Amino acid sequence: MRPLLARIALDALAHNLEVARRHAGSASILSVIKAGAYGHGLARAVRGLATSDGYAVLNIEEAVSLRQMSIEKPILLLEGPFDAEEMHACAEFNLMPVLHSPHQLEWLAQATEPLDVFLKFNSGMNRLGFPMAEFDAVIAHVKALPSVSRITLMTHFATADEDFGIDWQWQRFIARAEAAKLPISAANSAALLRYPETRRDWVRAGIMLYGASPFAGVSAEQLGLKPAMTLQSRIIALQTLKPGEALGYGLTYMADAATRVGIAACGYADGYPRHAPTGTPILVNGKRTRTLGRVSMDMLAVDLSHIPEAGIGSPVVLWGEGMPVEEVARAAGTISYELLCALAPRVAVRESA
Ligand SMILES: *Cc1c(COP(=O)(O)O)cnc(C)c1O
Repeated sequence: MRPLLARIALDALAHNLEVARRHAGSASILSVIKAGAYGHGLARAVRGLATSDGYAVLNIEEAVSLRQMSIEKPILLLEGPFDAEEMHACAEFNLMPVLHSPHQLEWLAQATEPLDVFLKFNSGMNRLGFPMAEFDAVIAHVKALPSVSRITLMTHFATADEDFGIDWQWQRFIARAEAAKLPISAANSAALLRYPETRRDWVRAGIMLYGASPFAGVSAEQLGLKPAMTLQSRIIALQTLKPGEALGYGLTYMADAATRVGIAACGYADGYPRHAPTGTPILVNGKRTRTLGRVSMDMLAVDLSHIPEAGIGSPVVLWGEGMPVEEVARAAGTISYELLCALAPRVAVRESA
């Protein structure tokens, strides 16, 4: 069997949820499990995150599959219904839709059964949400609808993970939200970890539950988080480059000295980023080394010059335990979220309790 495997540690998910719990205080935690739980698998993640107070997903299909797994906790639909029929499904499956635009309020007005809704306001990210200028009018309109039982006020931060922070958005939102005397949901992982004032009633924790840091300058370990996914493989071939010999498609890496190279079974068709350049960190036999040359569809090359004991069958960790996914992501010019979500369906998954 091909030695590539994604190991998912359910106890790491549970541990990270407890870290979130400590930060959340008395706020309830919606575990964000969109995109197949950031590549970890919806059903599997729900088992690891069983003590969540609720879940947040993107698609109605994900929400319905949670109900079919007999999950009875609150489920937030992060972009709300995409058509009137999905608004009916929200009532049928007892889902809490995020409502961010006027066309959704028209569908809501036609709903017959009462719904708990999250009203999303645009406090500066300019992606989804009603304008802050319409704050009171939107709330009054929705309050007057017979199809609404509970309203939660929501906003989303654009720079909670960056030096720019959240204050500029928070100042626009919080006084008005408090004056409305309705429950509030604002914090993503970065805000939950860094800005305690944003906890409020419902926090929406995503990336931290999977054991990755939302911050560029702070490691997951420093935050007390454990990686839930370890993408591991083995060395399946060895090469020795003479000085002046090059490697892989495009011959983009040329050896300036004799170089011992290992070929690992993992490529871009598995979700490893093709744009990861020579020098991207990787673990062989538990030792850090670097990738060499271009990532192929099914394989990549690693430098074994300083790991003479490594050979055929030596274990390789692409990311996860011992090799933070954020570091790999940074080397490849992206973020951990993208690497985790891109894990390909062809990769075998094994879960550990
Ligand atoms: C994805 C998402 C989150 C979770 O963000 P993380 O950075 O992964 O914690 C929270 N809120 C909304 C609206 C989202 O779309």
